[in-house]
Amino acid sequence: MQSKVAVLGAGTMGTGIAHVFAQYDYPVAWVEVDTQRWEKARAIVAQNTERQVRKGILTPEARQALLDRLTFYDSVAPAVAQAALVVEAVPEDLALKISIWQEVSRQAPETAILATNTSSISITQLAAHVRNPDRFIGMHFMNPVPVMRLVEVIQGLQTSPATVEATLQWARALEKEPVLVQDYPGFISNRVLMPMINEAIYALYQGVATREAIDTIMKLGMNHPMGPLELADFIGLDVCLAILRVLHEGFGDPRYAPCPLLVKMVQAGYLGRKSGKGFYEYA
Ligand code: NAD
Repeated sequence: MQSKVAVLGAGTMGTGIAHVFAQYDYPVAWVEVDTQRWEKARAIVAQNTERQVRKGILTPEARQALLDRLTFYDSVAPAVAQAALVVEAVPEDLALKISIWQEVSRQAPETAILATNTSSISITQLAAHVRNPDRFIGMHFMNPVPVMRLVEVIQGLQTSPATVEATLQWARALEKEPVLVQDYPGFISNRVLMPMINEAIYALYQGVATREAIDTIMKLGMNHPMGPLELADFIGLDVCLAILRVLHEGFGDPRYAPCPLLVKMVQAGYLGRKSGKGFYEYA
């Protein structure tokens, strides 16, 4: 029997994370407080694994076994009681993450690795609220998790080398490519990506080029699969703005100041794909 993994949250990221752990034979204790999401999350995994069967990645039997490894819980305590690894993917809200981690660290075995999938909250700050901060780490999966190979592993100030090593092993067990970085605002992924997106928005704001021209230049010229404005819509403009604010505040450097056009679009509720309108319109 493989060791147990607890996944907290069955939204966009939690669903992908639970899927890959179950795919690689780990029983997943899956915590989601919104019980109405249970069926939806299970349906998404069922649909995505059906695609994997069609592509020959999974046999129909392996797919069924994968689905059977997912067990839902509506509270943390029973789900983390026997977990070797806890991966948290609840919304990007500092107070919520602190309270959930305080509870996890009271209920999980002392030996468990405690990993957050946060995109921008300080690992060091969250670790300060758990019982054993040396076992706390960032495990930043990319969306869509079953497809994307990278896991950005973030070492907080208190994270021990043993926890880093164990986390790299966990990611490799999923056939992911873990890359270790230190805990500074935006880590590496968002520290490099968000200023590029912000610059593209500035170029649009200043009338340098149209949205299509900016995206086409980056796609054809730099071989990016999506242009920066398209990508911002995909990520969510509210999420981009929040991460830029973390960079701006964290470094105190005006070069990270969010473009006024981005601020205005978020104020208008133009959040990208999820709201039907961002830099582009969606049906
Ligand atoms: P989401 O809003 O889609 O999902 C969060 C889920 O957590 C919801 O289903 C919510 O009901 C549930 N939840 C809320 N409180 C809970 C609790 N106390 N216990 C258990 N479940 C609870 O969010 P998401 O996009 O999946 O993001 C989750 C985390 O992953 C965030 O920290 C985000 O920054 C990070 N992240 C997101 C992306 C992305 O592309 N969406 C990429 C990398 C990292």
